[in-house]
Amino acid sequence: MCGIVAYVGHREACPVVIKGLKRLEYRGYDSAGVALMNGHGLKVYKKKGKVVALERELEGKETHSTIGMGHTRWATHGEPNDVNAHPHYSFHRKLAIIHNGIIENYAAIKQALLKKGHTFTSETDTEVLGQFIEDIWENNGGTLEDAVRLALQEVVGAYAIVVMSETDSTQLIAARKGSPLVIGVGEENEFFLASDATPIVEYTKDVIYLNDYEIAVIKEGDLKIVNLDNTTTTPYVHKIEMELAAIEKGGYDHFMLKEIFEQPRSIADSMRGRVQADAGILQLGGLRDYMDKLARSERIVIIGCGTSWHAGLVAEYIFEELARIPVEVEYASEFRYRNPIIKEGDIVIAISQSGETADTLAAIELAKSKGATIFGVCNVVGSSIARATDAGAYTHAGPEIGVASTKAFTAQVTVLTIMALEAAQRKGTISESLFRQLLVELESIPAKVEMVLQAADKIKEIAYIFTYARNFIYLGRGLNFPVALEGALKLKEISYIHAEGYPAAEMKHGPIALIDEDMPVVVIATKDSSYEKVVSNIQEVKARKGRVIAITTEGDTDLPGMVDFTIEIPKVHSMLMPLISAIPLQLLAYYIAVMRGRNVDQPRNLAKSVTVE
Ligand code: GLU
Repeated sequence: MCGIVAYVGHREACPVVIKGLKRLEYRGYDSAGVALMNGHGLKVYKKKGKVVALERELEGKETHSTIGMGHTRWATHGEPNDVNAHPHYSFHRKLAIIHNGIIENYAAIKQALLKKGHTFTSETDTEVLGQFIEDIWENNGGTLEDAVRLALQEVVGAYAIVVMSETDSTQLIAARKGSPLVIGVGEENEFFLASDATPIVEYTKDVIYLNDYEIAVIKEGDLKIVNLDNTTTTPYVHKIEMELAAIEKGGYDHFMLKEIFEQPRSIADSMRGRVQADAGILQLGGLRDYMDKLARSERIVIIGCGTSWHAGLVAEYIFEELARIPVEVEYASEFRYRNPIIKEGDIVIAISQSGETADTLAAIELAKSKGATIFGVCNVVGSSIARATDAGAYTHAGPEIGVASTKAFTAQVTVLTIMALEAAQRKGTISESLFRQLLVELESIPAKVEMVLQAADKIKEIAYIFTYARNFIYLGRGLNFPVALEGALKLKEISYIHAEGYPAAEMKHGPIALIDEDMPVVVIATKDSSYEKVVSNIQEVKARKGRVIAITTEGDTDLPGMVDFTIEIPKVHSMLMPLISAIPLQLLAYYIAVMRGRNVDQPRNLAKSVTVE
């Protein structure tokens, strides 16, 4: 959600910032802007729409500047238009500000400034903060750094900000609370700032993750980090492992397709060093000291949002079945606003691809305050959730750029499965033979995913037939029920077709009323203990002329004669089936969205990293 990029150093800043904004496009946004110091002082250019619209706006303009900052806005206060786009000038135009997040007490600050005679051009909370900083700077006599610090001491809410002033073309001041900000330390005293490392990685691998309540002051080629109380902190420089190729399309039409096809590798990466089937060994390094606690726990609460919540539902089945630990799966946004019963000794597992999901972060803090032990399952290394939890396991899926999550989901399920298996083994609730069998089967998953991907052309043909469907129903039972939810979510997100996922048997309690010859029903009907029941559910749909697309186990000769279309997937133990059965549903959603001409990687209204609640 929203992207921040800034640069100061020896290079031309504008191309660095524009390219960086493009790298952050995947996060979701509605307008874009830059601020430069181009010989005419501090200049702001901004435009509603995509970064290309901003580029057009910049054509023919004087953009020479070795300092600059850019922003892609995801509107919260005021509609997406040119005026509300960032950067925002302050009242006397001495500074410009870009901001990710929400200033909750902006109305009170605005009132005070209005009384002093200020006027505002935009409806944003951001402009209020910019004017507030300038007001303090003008009236308190200190430096801009002092003014930023004093202003932020008064601010309630979440922010990542960058401030540039007309008086110093070497200075960028950045701060964060709740929204991510990464500093790249480049060559010859140059510095980069960005919402995540993707705009930085082609210039430097040395990064500093700014912490909450920290202010970074870059001036004359030096970096200083202070806390809101003005104590200086020593930054820790991390080496990022991300490669440039990981954030480029590599010949695919869309990032989403690339990421779907990457799954044999990303699932293998999420198991690397953790699963050794031949030796019968399983280990999650980041949880080593906590595994006994997990195995002994009386209850696990899993929190997440969207696709991560679905991965949590899959994990619920696996933990309960194998480790016999009761599991509750909660939407982070609901969990945080009620008074959940959490006891010391409870384990809370927080799942988030970006590791920045605002609701999940808040839910973690709440659970912590009640004495739970918190595990994180995140993809982005160094992210806020990874740092806020007691222990955790990275999913190692590599950067996921497509807004609709695909490889992150399968990597989350892989890691959670490993966690459940290890807990079950320690607890003694799984037989040695089943344990060994599941390890062997886990190791075979990447090759089986590869086989499913070979059905892409067939899935494309089915997608073609259903391109203009107006609704879809997805059905599954057991572990395939969360997969049905995830399949429906994928379709909604990128094709804008209304889709619902249900446990197959639940259909009779309502959704069956929707079935007619215009209703496509995707049924995950793999050979497991509920197969016969699912077949009965299919008959019920067919009896009402619904059009069934069935995901079947290879070699199933019964279903092809019964349903309209089948997509075969390889046999695998039912505990691991979601890792396979999710793949055709991702492809189906992808091809339908492409055929409908949708912006697959950046679907409307959606953001990749949901950093506001
Ligand atoms: N609240 C700010 C606005 O509406 C920032 C939104 C964002 O994070 O992009 O302009």
